[in-house]
Amino acid sequence: MENKSERWCVMSFTRIEDILDGRCEGKHISVRGWVYRKRESKDIVFFIIRDATGIVQCTVRKDSSAWADAKRVTIESSVTLSGTVKKDERAPGGFEVPVDQLKIVGLAETFPITKDQSEEFRRNVRHLWLRSRRMNTIMKVRSETLRFVHEFFRKKSFIEVSPPMFISSACEGGATLFGLKYFDKDLYLTQSAQLHLEALIQSLEKVYCVAPSFRAEKSRTIRHLAEYWHVEAEEAFSTMDDLMCLEEDLVSHVCQNVAKQCRKELKALEVDAGKLAKVKAPFNRITYDEAVEKLRKKNFKIKWGEDFGFNEEKALAEELGPLFVYAYPKKIKAFYCKTYRENPEMVMSVDLIVPNIGELSTGGAREDDKKELLKRLEEFGLRQEDYEWYIDLRKYGTVPHTGFGLGVERLLAWILDLENIIDTIPFPRTTRRFYP
Ligand code: ATP
Ligand code: MN
Repeated sequence: MENKSERWCVMSFTRIEDILDGRCEGKHISVRGWVYRKRESKDIVFFIIRDATGIVQCTVRKDSSAWADAKRVTIESSVTLSGTVKKDERAPGGFEVPVDQLKIVGLAETFPITKDQSEEFRRNVRHLWLRSRRMNTIMKVRSETLRFVHEFFRKKSFIEVSPPMFISSACEGGATLFGLKYFDKDLYLTQSAQLHLEALIQSLEKVYCVAPSFRAEKSRTIRHLAEYWHVEAEEAFSTMDDLMCLEEDLVSHVCQNVAKQCRKELKALEVDAGKLAKVKAPFNRITYDEAVEKLRKKNFKIKWGEDFGFNEEKALAEELGPLFVYAYPKKIKAFYCKTYRENPEMVMSVDLIVPNIGELSTGGAREDDKKELLKRLEEFGLRQEDYEWYIDLRKYGTVPHTGFGLGVERLLAWILDLENIIDTIPFPRTTRRFYP
């Protein structure tokens, strides 16, 4: 079935969003879903039924053959039902289905989630809380966001690649590595696909991936997960300017499209679509030195050479909106960052910083000269033999290249104005949470 209107006619079950669209008024339809709310009076039972696409009010009257089951059915039971759709201004969404047939598919035991439980409790029963309208809606925006990311890279002729999750040498430093037994060897879970993407650009030139990254983050913050989804891209023959343009185009593309195509969801989540639609390239660009100066003017006691924390990042983005900070002291960035040849104490690294969330991505030019790379490995106390394959990339046809990594959950938390990234992923993994 190509288009939506054809599909819904022939399907034996109608999706609730199609009822709410008004196209089923006066038609006899069947719905399947779960009992979301139930309220009874002497002669009538009111239900709110939910499916993946929405909620609709259904009623069963005492004289109906469905009455006995309507009385018996519990919250979160799965059901199928039929009835003729009618308009009803009082019903949520403006339509009602007076039920003539009701079938209980799976009768639910007493559902543990009720209205006034704590956030903490809901997170402990995440497998059930995922059924809430809120989580249902966030997951849809997440899906759309990923779609727009893929759409963007394909439009820019990037090739999607699939990096390994088991790795033998660190990308982002030892402190946040998860170790594991791999047969009889000690390996790690990947923190970033970057190094492997660098190998792939020498074949495909422009590559990207959306894949999990793992970080043993011991501090509990609102923007760190132990397992998160990482959008990473790498491009051969590119400059810092190319890189920043690519990143701001990606972020604008996603924000504009979410604002346009997720209107219903944004409204339900009380997110200002207008504000999101205003996120447009180009973003402000300042150097690390300029950022330090700005922060000092705002009374931050920051020494030159120190990295910015959450508060510093927030303060910068409050003033400048989404912004790039580039040209960092080499001591606070990773071994693979390329130094400015005229000022080798500084590296071509760039952070994208956004209001409320702070750092959204880090990218930069990668050291492409073999001798320089060997020097950097030594400075970081890393063993050359652990990076032989990576050094090979500089031996055989090295090119200037740049790339970046951006966290999907941070992007979503920013787009949806959420306080904590924990609600942007269905089954969050943190120091404390790994169940369900
Ligand atoms: P931070 O300093 O905020 O901890 P980072 O500099 O260690 O982040 P990078 O190595 O630059 O992180 O990773 C690239 C991107 O991946 C980050 O900009 C961020 O969007 C995302 N990211 C990094 N660590 C996490 C995490 N633990 N949970 C969720 N997203 C993360
Ligand atoms: Mn970073």
